Amino acid sequence: MKLILPDNIERVVPSWFREQLRNLDPNLIVYFNPMRQRWVIDRCTRNGAMSAALHEHTPECPRTNVTVVEEEGQYMPLCQQVIDDLRARDAWSQYGSFEVYDRLTQNAADEDAAKRETAIDDLYRHTTADNRAQLAKAWTLFSRHDMSRIH
Ligand SMILES: [Zn+2]
Repeated sequence: MKLILPDNIERVVPSWFREQLRNLDPNLIVYFNPMRQRWVIDRCTRNGAMSAALHEHTPECPRTNVTVVEEEGQYMPLCQQVIDDLRARDAWSQYGSFEVYDRLTQNAADEDAAKRETAIDDLYRHTTADNRAQLAKAWTLFSRHDMSRIH
């Protein structure tokens, strides 16, 4: 008979947990630390704390530790309480919610689009003004020279 030790249990992050974590802060990374026998949650800092550029996190991602999941020094599984605790932390108060984070990045994108639009408007205005100046110049030329007369 094969004895199943806790060590042999595959540590898989439940999909609902992964989902909630991503909604909380897309830069949070969860993994099991076999040395400590604890779930650990880090925060990726690859593109800065307020990064809007989402990417697949890799072990090479620079990170800061957010929390070691445990309850009164004992092992604690990935449960709703972990999410609730994270929510009460800095990462949560910084953005308020994923919606706020989303809005912040959306605002940045909108601002960028608005800037681009203004630049295009300016370009059109200048181009039109140039065309008008050229037309005026041409008109002056035409009116100075009697085109019907052979020079
Ligand atoms: Zn990362």
